Amino acid sequence: MIKRSTEAPCQLRSPINRRQMLAATLGAGTAWAFAQPALAQRQITIQSGAHKMQITIQSGAHKITSLSDGHLILPEAMFAPKIDTASRAAAFKAAGQSGARIKSPLNVTLIEVGAEKILIDVGSGSRFMDSAGRLGDALEAAGVDPEAITMVVYTHAHPDHIWGTINDFDELSFPNAKYFISENEWNYWMSNNVLATLPAERHGFAIGAQRNLKMIKPKLTTIKPGQEIVAGLNVLDSAGHTPGHISIEVGDGKDRVVVLGDALTHPVISFQHPNWRPAVDQQPNKAVATRKRLLDKLASDGNRIIGYHLPAPGAGRVERKGTGYAFAPLA
Ligand SMILES: [Zn+2]
Repeated sequence: MIKRSTEAPCQLRSPINRRQMLAATLGAGTAWAFAQPALAQRQITIQSGAHKMQITIQSGAHKITSLSDGHLILPEAMFAPKIDTASRAAAFKAAGQSGARIKSPLNVTLIEVGAEKILIDVGSGSRFMDSAGRLGDALEAAGVDPEAITMVVYTHAHPDHIWGTINDFDELSFPNAKYFISENEWNYWMSNNVLATLPAERHGFAIGAQRNLKMIKPKLTTIKPGQEIVAGLNVLDSAGHTPGHISIEVGDGKDRVVVLGDALTHPVISFQHPNWRPAVDQQPNKAVATRKRLLDKLASDGNRIIGYHLPAPGAGRVERKGTGYAFAPLA
């Protein structure tokens, strides 16, 4: 990726300010967990991540590749703050996780069909968390030039999905792409009242969403559930995590792959306990209803899914299990 410096740094570019914002976003006491790792360590993580986590699956004419943007490190309580600690610990244990902080993978989907190279979400960029923002390395490992990306479709405008839109120099990371976001999502984040809808510690989400969305406005098309974006890519309503959250259905029938974004975020909590309310769901009741509707439909249809935060590379199926569901990774 070619980066050119043309202007003075903005406030959020400073690592100190970025950590301060993270402290405000994730709660006091967590910020220093995100201290910058040594450079050598970062490079090793990038290289193994970019190669190990990649998977390519086919749906008709669509070649679908899951790429890693790295991972988030989140306080365990964020996944279901109203649930008792022992129940949460049991769910994490079932997912092979433990401890006060949980790694949450970041799986960006690349779809190649005809002349189009389409990214579903673009990762966190360099301003959110030091363990994230690796999409450029993953694309390079996959042999895809960022300038060759023709379309970017966002599931929603949270930092880990949209802040990779612009690079360190406030230029578009994918300069030749057309951009697509749901009309409801655009209207929500670009509203003059958005800060009043968010707790103070999440105001950084809105400031960041507006910073990125303003940059793509000249190249942006807003879309609605039920629309076909390009041949074989259909918009599916999955609102609740954010007011305009969408998922993308790729291909048809049994071959279909559903790129879920953050409709289902954890391999045990979202599947076995869809009633639990993660702190990051902005419309918790709607998010629960969306999860249940999607789980039932996906288990019945047997379609493959890619979840942005499901265990890397995020691809699998939904199976019925007891009174709930289970995530079955693709073998
Ligand atoms: Zn996310």
